[in-house]
Amino acid sequence: MTYLISACLLGCPCRYDGKSKPIPEDIRALLQADTLIPVCPECLGGLPTPRPPAEIVCGRVINREGRNVTKEYERGAQEVLRLARLYRADGVVLRDKSPSCGTRGIYDGSFTGTLCDGMGITAALLAREGILILDEHGTAP
Ligand code: SF4
Repeated sequence: MTYLISACLLGCPCRYDGKSKPIPEDIRALLQADTLIPVCPECLGGLPTPRPPAEIVCGRVINREGRNVTKEYERGAQEVLRLARLYRADGVVLRDKSPSCGTRGIYDGSFTGTLCDGMGITAALLAREGILILDEHGTAP
């Protein structure tokens, strides 16, 4: 089985704050048996690391400095979709709560740490295109 996976879950320091988000124990054993291809849609979209945090507001991605970064997020999502098809991936494992990778919950755009239902830009595109998406616990939304 071949999966693309949010690079920060494999320890790559590509998060907005320059840190990683090591993979939870409950999916580690499962994934050790599979081929994993790390991807970070925000990096693939051309954004630097570190970068200001961003949240989705009325369908647009706005960073904490007020800059509209929707194009970069959409470009990164298209790149992940392209790679998923190129590698004929069986699925994509994504880190929850991210405005790119979140599969079930994202921050609500107020930059107050408040969660709401919804998907990140990459997760939503993959789901629309029929690609299996799993969260960091191995659960499909
Ligand atoms: Fe991790 Fe996805 Fe955020 Fe990149 S965009 S740092 S892969 S959660």
